[in-house]
Amino acid sequence: MAIIGAIMVPHPPLIIPAVGRGGEAQIEETTHAYKKATESIAAWKPDTVVIITPHSVMYKDYIHISPGDGAKGDFSRFGAPNARYEVTYDKALVAEIEKLASANDIAAGTLGERQPALDHGFLVPLHFLANAMGSPLPCNFVRIGISGLSFETHYRLGMLISDAAEKLSRKVCIVASGDLSHYVQADGPYGFRPEGPEYDSKIMDIIGRAAFDELLAMPEDFCETAGECGQRSFLIMAGSFDGIKVEAEMLSYQGITGVGYGVAIFTPIEPDNSRHFINKQE
Ligand SMILES: [Zn+2]
Repeated sequence: MAIIGAIMVPHPPLIIPAVGRGGEAQIEETTHAYKKATESIAAWKPDTVVIITPHSVMYKDYIHISPGDGAKGDFSRFGAPNARYEVTYDKALVAEIEKLASANDIAAGTLGERQPALDHGFLVPLHFLANAMGSPLPCNFVRIGISGLSFETHYRLGMLISDAAEKLSRKVCIVASGDLSHYVQADGPYGFRPEGPEYDSKIMDIIGRAAFDELLAMPEDFCETAGECGQRSFLIMAGSFDGIKVEAEMLSYQGITGVGYGVAIFTPIEPDNSRHFINKQE
């Protein structure tokens, strides 16, 4: 199994002390879980960490993968220009994923880069990874965005990430960066919708059982009304474990700021034929 582990994490910039300036205390439970999740990535000692971020360049019909040798980013947009980070990309793995995507008719690749600088969907997990792994970071990275394409297409891309890692004999960990609903509190920045808490409790239940077939089957219009951010990110991660039995450990859920934040760890156990949720060649 080329994917040796994965985590689901949110990306509130507020959680970075330089940005939160004390405000991060209200999501301490999330911080705690985040540390535990990124420490397991450090313990797995991956060659490469693939971070899926909903806030990279996003196209309706194309999933963008960042090209080049690496990238830098900081939290200057959030008032903390000194919180700076830098990564090296695993160019060979990117090239292999791109090759497999084109061979399998998945619209994904390195074209159309508009903003090379790392976005907060990538930077927040990177902040915790840097704390857990030390710097300079002992592994390379791949940065993958999401698109308006179907849930199934994102899941299929996840399957290809696993195939590409296998082909190059890379030990890869996946970080599925994504917030849950933006409508879970009436006094939150986006207000309340009943679909918000409904989505969050569904996701936490599904994720907690690693029921990735149910994740794939969630109605897209319901997810949209619920104002989710991370569904497609979670689906790419789920696809990377297609045909594999996965143990899920749910670490935390908080919705106190009006946005849902969930943290979980996924460990592959063994190949499992009953978990092929999509036929590869249809
Ligand atoms: Zn987001």
